[in-house]
Amino acid sequence: VTTCVFCRIVAGEIPAPRILENEHVLAFRDINPQAPVHVLVAPKLHVTRLDALNDVALEAALLSACRAVAADQKIAATGYRVVINTGSDGGQSVDHLHFHVLGGRAMHWPPG
Ligand code: AMP
Repeated sequence: VTTCVFCRIVAGEIPAPRILENEHVLAFRDINPQAPVHVLVAPKLHVTRLDALNDVALEAALLSACRAVAADQKIAATGYRVVINTGSDGGQSVDHLHFHVLGGRAMHWPPG
């Protein structure tokens, strides 16, 4: 039995609105959205963080899914941000790799 919250979302044990899905990747809405569009893109397999990802095909699938989410959510033309928080200084709070896709408003720079 896994305790990883994102593995449990992948397994359907914890509900999360699904935006898109394929064999390797799941995109679902963030429970605490920081922008009008805030979708998380995660590998279905448990990968703890960016440094633990050693599959270039999966890397490509994750980035492609981010682009597809932006198109699906109609933020591709206005622009959007993709973020990977990594480790404690990076602000990672869930130890299952995920890309944040944020849009629907102008983003600020630098991030906090
Ligand atoms: P990070 O801080 O980069 O690890 O991001 C973790 C993200 O997961 C945060 O934006 C949380 O709001 C989000 N999150 C945590 N639990 C859930 C959940 N059950 N469903 C959807 N998003 C979640």
